[in-house]
Amino acid sequence: KNYVELLNVKVNVATKKSVLKDLIDASMKSEKKFIVTANPEILMNAYEDSKYGSAIKKADYIVADGIGVVLASKMNRTSLPERIPGYDLMIELLNSINFHGQSCYFLGASESVNSRLIKVIKNKYPDIKIAGHSDGYFSINDEKVLKSVLVSKPDFIFVALGMPKQEEWIARHFELFDKGIFMGVGGSFDVLAG
Ligand code: UDP
Repeated sequence: KNYVELLNVKVNVATKKSVLKDLIDASMKSEKKFIVTANPEILMNAYEDSKYGSAIKKADYIVADGIGVVLASKMNRTSLPERIPGYDLMIELLNSINFHGQSCYFLGASESVNSRLIKVIKNKYPDIKIAGHSDGYFSINDEKVLKSVLVSKPDFIFVALGMPKQEEWIARHFELFDKGIFMGVGGSFDVLAG
């Protein structure tokens, strides 16, 4: 794999288009992937907090979310070709999930944002199967939420719990799933819910 090492984290040399294609292909084959869209805050936290660092090291892809990460990579022999904003990646994935009629679980944000988000999804992406949804104010050890995600066997799981909770939740439970594309999306639910 082709990567640039920043603060001991291997960031993939990838374009948005190539990552999208890989994730869509993997979902069609019922594979499992964990993707981190890394901004400087995430990289700093991984550097300072080894628990968080080992969580994100379980990711299949760590991509550069934001110009800060792309600029930092310019000091390396190989640099990152472009930024891959998490929000943009989520929107493009939603288009594809809708096109293919795949299922998706929406985990995170406040109760009101989460329910507004579901209305927006039903309206804008009518062919997405909503495997389930839950707000993000639960403990990382909560079994009820975990079970509801597990039994729904979603093709995609968007996790909007903010950094570090979202990556820690994914890393901790990833092994329990047979399939699914897992991605931490930060404040993206709030943006899409309007
Ligand atoms: N959030 C959540 N559970 C928590 C903490 C945060 O669901 O325990 C949600 C919050 O409501 C927001 C999202 O996580 O929708 C991202 O928050 P923030 O913008 O602070 O994260 P960032 O985008 O900076 O990672």
